[in-house]
Amino acid sequence: MKPGYIYVLVHPSDPLLVKVGQTTLNPEKRLAQHNSKNEEYTGQVVKETGQKWELKKYIAVPDPSWAEKAFWASVPSSVFPYRFGIEVDKMEWEVVQNGLEAAKKAGMRPPPTLPDWVYAYTAWMNKRLEGRDITLIGRVTSRSGKAVFRCINGHEWRTNSKYVAEGEGCPHCGIGYREPEEIWQVAKLGYICLLIHPDKPGIIKIGLTYNTLEQCFERNVWKDWEVHQYRFVEDPALAERLIWELLGNPSLENREELKVDLSVAEQAFRGLIYQMHREIAFAEKKKEGINNLLTNG
Ligand SMILES: [Zn+2]
Repeated sequence: MKPGYIYVLVHPSDPLLVKVGQTTLNPEKRLAQHNSKNEEYTGQVVKETGQKWELKKYIAVPDPSWAEKAFWASVPSSVFPYRFGIEVDKMEWEVVQNGLEAAKKAGMRPPPTLPDWVYAYTAWMNKRLEGRDITLIGRVTSRSGKAVFRCINGHEWRTNSKYVAEGEGCPHCGIGYREPEEIWQVAKLGYICLLIHPDKPGIIKIGLTYNTLEQCFERNVWKDWEVHQYRFVEDPALAERLIWELLGNPSLENREELKVDLSVAEQAFRGLIYQMHREIAFAEKKKEGINNLLTNG
């Protein structure tokens, strides 16, 4: 985004006639363009009257199109009927001045808000890149969407983010390659399970593991408890905290067996991933907000 100007041209043929615009050029240059007969609306006025536009005022702004929006937002709607169909306007000078004040105050447009899952996928990707000498450039916008990566040797490439997440290294020098099992361990991935017991209707347990489900079954970690539902989770500790919150039991005590309607527990599991995205987005936005404050002084 380039800084530029909001400018106001006036025309000697009519004291109310103005042209308000934004430009990243020098305003004098823009004036010359408007006075050329090729310019559709302003040039037409020059052609018809034989008189040229004059640069009445301009202000420097960091974000011209955002400032122009602020200008027009400040103009009372009663002024607008003059505006339809043409690029030049009829306005009292006072209205123009108010508009310029608003444009001056507009500053930079706020950064666009991203969906929560973008923050979550990005945070999770960064977790999987730890210690691999690969940096994610920008963000990951979906689990298997493309993203740009850069290795410590300066190679940059764009690929399906899933491949890098699962251990693929730099395609040029191979740096950052990991076996999927290693990624699994270092990033502390795992499963969260909703466990039920054939002899205990109305009672559930939450199972959390940093291993694969196969490993859990082999080692019989849950004994007679059956896995009723499970979710793969990038952050099992967070998932565990949230699932207990969703089950209405956020305290750290009594986390063994919980008496709860199975449908309620199922509902909590359905909402879990969404809740994780929200929680991570909240934390990441806060971090970014603090970083922005630091860099902007
Ligand atoms: Zn490389």
